[in-house]
Amino acid sequence: MIEKIKANLKRVRCYHSIHNLEIGIKKATENDMTCLEFLGWILERECENRDKNKIKLMLKKSNLPVLKTFDEFDFAYQHSVNKRQIKDWLNFLWIEQRENKIFMGPPGVGKTHLAIALAYEAIKSGFRAYFYPVNDLIDDLTLANHDGKMEAFLKKISAYDLIVIDEMGYLPFAQIQANLFFQLINHLYEFRSVIITSNKIFSEWAVTFGDQSIAAAIIDRIIHHAEPLIITGDSFRMRNKIV
Ligand code: ADP
Ligand code: MG
Repeated sequence: MIEKIKANLKRVRCYHSIHNLEIGIKKATENDMTCLEFLGWILERECENRDKNKIKLMLKKSNLPVLKTFDEFDFAYQHSVNKRQIKDWLNFLWIEQRENKIFMGPPGVGKTHLAIALAYEAIKSGFRAYFYPVNDLIDDLTLANHDGKMEAFLKKISAYDLIVIDEMGYLPFAQIQANLFFQLINHLYEFRSVIITSNKIFSEWAVTFGDQSIAAAIIDRIIHHAEPLIITGDSFRMRNKIV
């Protein structure tokens, strides 16, 4: 009987239940569990383990360079970031509503840290997130465009609920790159959530995009459903240095 059940569980791909079947039967006998309690226990383990594996897989696919958490973030050091506001974001309604987040400020103030921590929490809540250093994104867009595979690229990136575009503004874009970036933002607009970190404020983006009107079109779409968070202060990297 057990072997037959295991074979059937295998057919329906309930591998955790196969693993837990005998443990569960022993537990049920020892604790006088009802049929319902036993079934509930088995299914609970199956779902729990599937969720855990899904998170592991999503983390692997996320391209996050390191793991940063909110617990590691020193809110006392960084006054311009409101802890309560950030905690509010952890219900991820903003992802469900396809809203964006923008973190702007000088180097070292924690923009990337916050973006990674948000993406990490989003993944733990079951969302798919991808971290893109902007230079890699531009390379991939350029390649896809060159190979005539833009549509496939946009489809692939839209498989994620949240796309982090990190470090915009350090390098200016060439005209073609700015156009490709616009295509991407236009595609994601009201369709997927984006977090952008940038060392430049909006008024400086025209320089990054090399073109006032394309910068305006990009900003327009990004901020339609986003509140930019301007982070000020000293670089955290320099906190213990006497300069
Ligand atoms: P930015 O992206 O703004 O240039 P990062 O997020 O890369 O800065 O931060 C630089 C380093 O300092 C990282 O190692 C980050 O984890 C750390 N860091 C920055 N701000 C804080 C903070 N308020 N609390 C703890 N660590 C911080
Ligand atoms: Mg950064």
